Amino acid sequence: MLMAFSAVQKTTLIALVRVALIVAVLGGIVGLVFDTATGLVVALITVFICFAYYAWKLAQLSDWLEDPKAATLPDGLGVWGDTLGNLYRLIRTERNAQQVLAVSLGRFQEAASALPDGAVMLDNQYNIVWCNPNAEAHWSISLDRDRMQTITYLIRYPEFIEYLNARKFGEPLTLKISQSKASPSPTEITLSVQLVSFGDEQMLLLSRDISEREQLETMRRDFVANVSHELRTPLTVLLGFLETLMNGGSDNHVIVEKSLAHMSTQTVRMERLVNDLLTLSRLEDNRNRLATAPINMPELIASIALDAQHLSNGAHAIVQELDDGWLAGNRDEVSSALSNLVTNAVRYTPKGGRIHIRWSTKSGAPFFAVQDNGEGIPAEHLPRLTERFYRVDRGRSRVAGGTGLGLAIVKHVLLRHGGHIGIASSQDIAHHGSTFTATFPTERACAPQLTSQALASASAATSAI
Ligand code: ADP
Repeated sequence: MLMAFSAVQKTTLIALVRVALIVAVLGGIVGLVFDTATGLVVALITVFICFAYYAWKLAQLSDWLEDPKAATLPDGLGVWGDTLGNLYRLIRTERNAQQVLAVSLGRFQEAASALPDGAVMLDNQYNIVWCNPNAEAHWSISLDRDRMQTITYLIRYPEFIEYLNARKFGEPLTLKISQSKASPSPTEITLSVQLVSFGDEQMLLLSRDISEREQLETMRRDFVANVSHELRTPLTVLLGFLETLMNGGSDNHVIVEKSLAHMSTQTVRMERLVNDLLTLSRLEDNRNRLATAPINMPELIASIALDAQHLSNGAHAIVQELDDGWLAGNRDEVSSALSNLVTNAVRYTPKGGRIHIRWSTKSGAPFFAVQDNGEGIPAEHLPRLTERFYRVDRGRSRVAGGTGLGLAIVKHVLLRHGGHIGIASSQDIAHHGSTFTATFPTERACAPQLTSQALASASAATSAI
């Protein structure tokens, strides 16, 4: 029978039945014990007490609803007990859900904060709702200070505003931005910026620092341009002589001889360039493991000095000061690096100059040094000398037969051996000249009878560097 009623009707009915029962039982008992009039009075008083109880519970509930945090949820009897019990369960479920939500939100914020990219959450008016630390760093903004600020007030780059207005968010925008404008030397970074819409017209502004990628791309472009330029000059010369020979020059014996001599010089130059490029690419390839063996350094350096004497053809005084020590390393690579340094000293030191070659193993890390008393190199060039194709004097390097790759090769050989190059130069009238040093880690110094154990420890030392 009760099944036909709705929940509200059922609760009302049960409440009425309960009140009616209490009133009837109390009124009936009092009526039977005393008289009917007293019974009726008691019944009326009972109805009033029930009504007052309901009104009191209602007031407590209303009070609690006004400020659920300040007051505790009241309890009650009968229908009130059931109702308040249900309400209590509902609140508990809601609080649990809120806790789960807060934990999830915290985790989301933690995850978003750990993102390598910058992320700014924007509402449909482009106001900042939230952002992670990377975004703060990229855009020089602060979540505490700039929350609910319109993003276009803070990021004022015209390209960015155009990007927002065009609403073509499928493609990222590349933006060069200047950081810490207040500092005297602001750094410029390149950001790849993209807007992604989500939820109810909300936006996520993602930013990725691509400065390194851009730098590598610039280096790659410069490298290709440099190689093309280096090859174009000898090729143009070769073509010129070929044309001369084809246009009747081959009949003239003197022209033929002169042309062939020039063509041979240019071909040798191109071959040297290609060889240096191949050497450099082998050295830069991390997959090429360093094959190490004991090198008799005094013997190797003496033979390099002999080659230098041939190149100098008596134009320089070449002095050697060599300790006994051997080195655990790759003979071909070490030989190419040291010979580059000595050849440079010969090529860049004017006639009559003095070149001092040293190999020292007695004081700590073993090092090779070549010192000349040439003109010296202006200080501003020193930090860039080991860059590929960097020359102080392009014309002079070319005349000297340089490829511009020598010091880059030296640097890479030393890096592979865990060592480093040192350059000191002075143009002082009294002490002009340059000193190039190649320093190796102490572990690489070895005795002539090197045990396999010592070799292994030298290799381990290098791979750890
Ligand atoms: P290059 O093939 O041009 O010699 P390197 O990489 O070997 O290229 O050297 C780079 C530049 O460093 C040279 O062009 C030259 O200007 C300068 N340089 C190198 N060694 C010396 C030296 N001993 N004295 C003066 N300048 C030097």
